[in-house]
This record gives sequence, structure tokens and C-alpha cells, in this order.
Amino acid sequence: RELVAAAADADDRAVEGALRPKRLDDFIGQPRVREQLSLVLHGALRRGRAPDHVLLSGPPGLGKTTLAMIISAELGAPLRITSGPAIERAGDLAAVLSTLSEGEVLFLDEIHRMARPAEEMLYVAMEDFRVDVVVGKGPGATAIPLDVAPFTLVGATTRAGMLPAPLRDRFGFVAHMDFYEPADLERILHRSAGLLGVVLEPDAGQEIARRSRGTPRIANRLLRRVRDYAEVRADGRLDRATARAALRLYEVDDEGLDRLDRAVLGALLKRFGGGPVGLSTLAVAVGEESETVEVMAEPFLVRAGLLARTPRGRVATPAAWSHLGLTPPPDAAF
Ligand code: ADP
Repeated sequence: RELVAAAADADDRAVEGALRPKRLDDFIGQPRVREQLSLVLHGALRRGRAPDHVLLSGPPGLGKTTLAMIISAELGAPLRITSGPAIERAGDLAAVLSTLSEGEVLFLDEIHRMARPAEEMLYVAMEDFRVDVVVGKGPGATAIPLDVAPFTLVGATTRAGMLPAPLRDRFGFVAHMDFYEPADLERILHRSAGLLGVVLEPDAGQEIARRSRGTPRIANRLLRRVRDYAEVRADGRLDRATARAALRLYEVDDEGLDRLDRAVLGALLKRFGGGPVGLSTLAVAVGEESETVEVMAEPFLVRAGLLARTPRGRVATPAAWSHLGLTPPPDAAF
């Protein structure tokens, strides 16, 4: 089973790449981010200089990587991709920075997970286009300054709050990406269906969009699962009935909540009486890391009005109780 899942994942990743919009004009939704970014890029192109560093923040699957690729395409500049967890030492970052070519776009995904000493090196590189490489140890250690070609850093983070202020402040443009409106997801789905060569009926598009947790990556993934279902179990038509049946099979509920979302809500309601309960306690109850719950489940549950973050902990809303078909206790903490 794992092998099958791994193969499906590899296939999904390849398809995901094929579905990425390549230019800003093809990027659907997020009108504010698109307009702001377009100005930043055109301003820089006009001046013939590398644009300011860009920070993209928001939940997974909203298009941060896609935007980084678009930035490089719009600038006609090469793109280098790395991520916070890959940079364990300052030296790892120095190796990347010192080999950038002029104007190159450096995409640093999960930038909040970079090692501390590398972070400090990055501040200097972003501001002065220089890195200080420390050679030797103890009192004999010397810092050798190296020039870095002017580059544009595109940082992405699912947790903007985790970035130290000095790093955040060095980005000239910070884009906060929010969940997509169902109408935008519908457009994304029809675009993807066209690229995949399948006919998506309008009401099926609506149904999938409504249940995609405001997230293009999820919309595209559900589209592929509905397509599988349509091809194997139905006559290949992607209509509403097929969409519903497929989504039921994949345990996506009416509001688009998936297994993890429901596990978190279920634990919050059934084990903690609706809260308040601390994030780490809640995470242990569902057998996940705190970060997984915080990044993957919570933002959508909050946006769907099912969960609230309070200074005393996580609290379920009345809608959460009715969504899971439960009755809140009389002393529930809303
Ligand atoms: P992130 O880096 O934020 O996790 P990605 O950029 O990898 O997200 O996007 C996930 C998938 O969703 C991509 O395959 C892309 O095709 C699709 N996608 C994201 N944003 C859009 C958009 N605005 N329009 C069309 N497709 C999008």
C-alpha cells in the first residue's frame, strides 16, 4: 500500500508542476497580492535593478512556490531553490549565496526553519550583498568578507510569526496570502481540467471548489481523485454526482474538512469539552506534532469559524459542535 501511495505521490507532484501557472497573468485569485507584486516587479524592470526581497506568508498549498517561479519568469532571471531545513549551518548558506549570479532569484522555502547562525549571515547578505565567512576557531578565528552578486530573495513561510523581526524587516515587500474564495478555486479547477484534458461540468466544479479548504493544491488534488473515480467507476463524466461520490470515498466532508481537521475538532470536543486546551495537549491527543496541527489544520478551522485561538487555549465554536452533530455541554467555553 505504501508503494502505491508513494507512486501516486510522485505522479501527483509531477502533475502539480504541470498545473502551475507560469506568468502573473495566469495566476488566479489573490488580486491584492498580484497587483502589489506586479508593481514591485515592473518598477524593478523599469529601473533595470533587482527588485526588493519578497516574503510570502500563508498556509501550505496557496501558491508561494508558484509565485517564486513566476517572479523569476517575469524578471527573466534564473531561479535557485532551497529551503530552511536544508540549511543546517552558516556554511551551507554561504555556499549558496557565493555562487549566485547577478539578478538571480533565490527561493528559500520554510525560511523560519533555517539555523540561527545562517539567519544572521542572511541579514547581511540581503542588505549589503556580502557574506562573512568565518575561518578557524576561538581567538584565532577570522572573518573573510566575500561579495555576493545582487540577488532577490523570495522567502516563504507558513508561520510569519516565527521569523525574527530583524529578518522580517529586511524584506521590502511582504505578501500575506489568504485562503481562496470558492469562485477563484472554481476557475483554477476549470483551468486545471483543461490542462488535464478532462471535461469538468460546472456543478461538479462548484462542488469540488466548495470542499477544497480554500486551497488550490487541495482543489487540484481532489480534481484528480474525482477524475480517477469518474474513469474507473462512472462513465468518465465529471458531474456533480460523481464528484460527491468520490469525495465521500476520500473522506472529504461537506465543508471540505479532511481526516486531520476532523480528528482535531473531535478531540477538542469529545476529550476536552470544547476547550480551552493548549495546542500541544491537543496535538498529543491526535498523535501529531504541534506544528502539524498549527500549520495544516488550524488556519482553516479558524477561517471556517469552527475553532478559535484564545490566550487560554483553543476553543471550539458552537458551529463546531453542530458540524460534528454533537451537543455542547451547558458550561461550554464560547
Ligand atoms: P505553496 O508553495 O504555497 O505550498 P504551491 O505554489 O506549491 O503552494 O501551489 C500548489 C499547487 O496549487 C500548484 O501546483 C499550483 O498549480 C496550484 N496553484 C497555487 N496557486 C494557484 C493559483 N493562484 N492559480 C492556479 N493554480 C495555483
